[in-house]
Amino acid sequence: MSKGFARGRTALTRNGRPSTTKFGWVYKDPRWKAVRKLVLERDKWRCTNCGCSVRTKFAARVDHIVAVSADISLAFTITNLRTLCVPCDAVRHMEKGGGGRAVERKGVDEDGWPIADG
Ligand SMILES: [Zn+2]
Repeated sequence: MSKGFARGRTALTRNGRPSTTKFGWVYKDPRWKAVRKLVLERDKWRCTNCGCSVRTKFAARVDHIVAVSADISLAFTITNLRTLCVPCDAVRHMEKGGGGRAVERKGVDEDGWPIADG
């Protein structure tokens, strides 16, 4: 019996849960994954606000400068994106959270990655 079929990748859960955000699909789009990586590399895996390193997996957030709800055409535009650390991202969302949308916590963050809740 051969073993070694373990795959190196962990697929994101695809359990068909509806997104609670209108633009949740953006973060599941292959273009998002690609551009997100470009942004992180462009910003050298540092928060563009405070400069701290976001190299650990759950520390990196990529933020839309112009929110996707304001202009969906900028959703995958690298110049509209910036790297933030989790604390700066939280502040940013509080600042722009005029609609009362709190940071949602349901196991996966906006980027589609599992939340490591502390
Ligand atoms: Zn920061």
